[in-house]
Amino acid sequence: MMTLTQNIRTEIELEHVSMRYQTDKSEVLALDNVTVDIRKGEFVSLLGPSGCGKTTLLRIMADLIQPTSGEIKVAGGTAKEARLAQKYGIVFQSPVLYDWRKIKNNVSLPLEMMGVDKNERDKRVANLLELVGLSDFKEKYPWQLSGGMQQRVAIARALAIEPEILLMDEPFSALDEFSRERLNEELLSIWSKVKNTVVFVTHSIPEAIFLSDRVFVLSPHPGRLSTVVEIPLSRPRTKEMRNSYEFYELISNIRDSFEGV
Ligand code: ADP
Ligand code: MG
Repeated sequence: MMTLTQNIRTEIELEHVSMRYQTDKSEVLALDNVTVDIRKGEFVSLLGPSGCGKTTLLRIMADLIQPTSGEIKVAGGTAKEARLAQKYGIVFQSPVLYDWRKIKNNVSLPLEMMGVDKNERDKRVANLLELVGLSDFKEKYPWQLSGGMQQRVAIARALAIEPEILLMDEPFSALDEFSRERLNEELLSIWSKVKNTVVFVTHSIPEAIFLSDRVFVLSPHPGRLSTVVEIPLSRPRTKEMRNSYEFYELISNIRDSFEGV
């Protein structure tokens, strides 16, 4: 039963959401009474150590799993309605590209599935590859690209359906620090053009700060929302900001909030 009152600026709203996994031998309380409110066009991160329920929370938002209890509203309706209306683009930790398809054909896959005609598809794929800076690689195969480039292909593919909401589960965590920082900057540049709502899962404090408008800090066992941190850095975010006093202060504040967890 939906009892939430939602204003139009709210994109995703979870109220008192809990998730209990039942296995043969045991029960895990993965999320305990989580309430969050994400605004339309906002970039938020879900930050916390491994096992604190980040993926579970993201999957609940995506309507891939249903919570044990609590309520969820997305874009003014249910999460299921949002999923059926193809409001979600999802990027996973590993890019899951099809090795036998060229880059352009990996990106066009969701458009093929939607029955978009070839001309329109080609046009949109060209725009998407331009957006993620991979136009020159459209005829290549995934294995010919670096890990970071593959993840950019996965981002282009997720954006193909022009999703209102982009959900990303640790998309850069397999990359080295240098590639990750560059990809962070590229993601923000893409987002500044697309302007959708982004929920980004990470266990990296600097990554969460650099990208987000707000950081939702989760604590483990059971997964709870411990604090929400506003990131007052201006946009566009720049490399130089990473070295600012303000940035270090944010890192140390968030790190402190994990103390005693
Ligand atoms: P995170 O993404 O933050 O690492 P997860 O959401 O994957 O956390 O997991 C949260 C907790 O729920 C962990 O203790 C994990 O072992 C447990 N868990 C996750 N998925 C399942 C599942 N399908 N069945 C049983 N337990 C699960
Ligand atoms: Mg996870």
